[in-house]
Amino acid sequence: MRKKIVAGNWKMNLDYNEGLALFSEIINMFKDEATGQQHAVVCSPFIHLHSLVQLAKGYHNVGVGAQNAHQAEAGAYTGEISAKMVKSVGAGYVILGHSERRQYFGESNELLAKKTDTALAHDLTPIFCIGETLQEREANQHFDIIKSQLVDGIFHLDATQFGKLVIAYEPVWAIGTGVTASSDQAQEIHAFIRKEIAAKYNQQVADDTTILYGGSCNPKNAPELFAQPDIDGGLIGGASLKSRDFIDIVKVFN
Ligand code: PEP
Repeated sequence: MRKKIVAGNWKMNLDYNEGLALFSEIINMFKDEATGQQHAVVCSPFIHLHSLVQLAKGYHNVGVGAQNAHQAEAGAYTGEISAKMVKSVGAGYVILGHSERRQYFGESNELLAKKTDTALAHDLTPIFCIGETLQEREANQHFDIIKSQLVDGIFHLDATQFGKLVIAYEPVWAIGTGVTASSDQAQEIHAFIRKEIAAKYNQQVADDTTILYGGSCNPKNAPELFAQPDIDGGLIGGASLKSRDFIDIVKVFN
């Protein structure tokens, strides 16, 4: 059975104290309200990671992750952070290939393939993001774009390595816009991703891969999205900055 996960992406929000306060609220609500089946992950700015890991101690179903890590082991890359550093504070996850990184920082599939290798080498679980822009969807290129992001970004992995990934389908036109993909649109792409994984590896690997949906997900639309057979949870931006909303999304799985 593949894992169902709700992961928050705080992006570049919350100073140190604000982040700790929000995470404490999340942990308290999780403790009081979650069942043993629910998995929550919070991907924070780097400055929070160590403290969040400490606060999450003892909560096996709460993970902490970074939002990026460099492809190199170490070196003269001023301002960057390595996968080893992220791992060293006890974080378990790292978002790779978020569309904001692809768009604003020029991250290509080829670069992301290297980042994925390095993250896996340090035993981090990449949450690997893929998704088409509005222009690409309108030009009916969305399946081709998704396929090339898979092939060039992560299909070089062997089946064992691939089994350690989480994939997030995030249509760029739905991120931070308040426009959500319909559950049919999202399910169509999730099923396509799973079919491509089965063709590349095998049906078992495809069935075991957690595929999250991201893009203006909130407590209202999450139940219908997460009820789709190939949607295994969400990557949540805006709504993850409100403890009540985030926990209500986590609780969609019961
Ligand atoms: C995201 O950035 O990963 C995201 C899904 O953002 P939002 O939920 O705000 O659309």
